Amino acid sequence: KFIVLEGIDGSGKTQACKLIAKILKKHNIKYIIVREPGGTPISEKIRKIIKHINLYEILNNKTILLLVYASRMQLIQNIIKPALKNNIWIISDRYDLSSFAYQGGGYKINNNIIQYLKNIIVNSYNPDLTIYLDVIPKNALKRIIIRGKLDKIEKNNLSFFKRIRNIYLNLISKDINSLLINANLKIDIVHQDIKNKFTKWLKK
Ligand code: C5P
Ligand code: MG
Repeated sequence: KFIVLEGIDGSGKTQACKLIAKILKKHNIKYIIVREPGGTPISEKIRKIIKHINLYEILNNKTILLLVYASRMQLIQNIIKPALKNNIWIISDRYDLSSFAYQGGGYKINNNIIQYLKNIIVNSYNPDLTIYLDVIPKNALKRIIIRGKLDKIEKNNLSFFKRIRNIYLNLISKDINSLLINANLKIDIVHQDIKNKFTKWLKK
């Protein structure tokens, strides 16, 4: 199975991935954790380009979109496809929904362009479950500042993240294979909620 964690920066995706991994381990399920953009040597190089603060200002939004999909293509081809074929589960820190949220909502790229790339690249490799960690941008920004990871100008921009969150909420509400988690609460409470809902989903 293919599990994806989604949410805006500072929503706690990476920690939640580790929690999901712990639960799978308990159930003796083999898994691989990946992150996006990234997860293969080439994809990690692409990640560095996208996250590089100096390049960020000269990168065209559509260039970023294509880079994100190039990274995803490699990840599907080299990791996701072979793993699923061998009954190894995938836990991914972000996936395709991030493109609709960030490139679409955040950078205002036309939805049809993203959908077109999705059809070509993602094809049938859709997650079995998306766990969306919902947090209001003001809270997320506080966490990013505490973490000392305010590495891009965009991260200071509340309206940028409000647009991203709106796309997430809209698409998650239409996705029957998704769980919405209130990630504004304290981490123990958030993790207990994820654990309860995910375990219930596992037993389905
Ligand atoms: O928080 P995380 O480690 O997932 O960081 C990935 C970064 O890459 C995000 O901060 C976001 O700005 C960027 N990104 C993006 N478009 C995507 C996925 C990630 O701009 N589709
Ligand atoms: Mg993270």
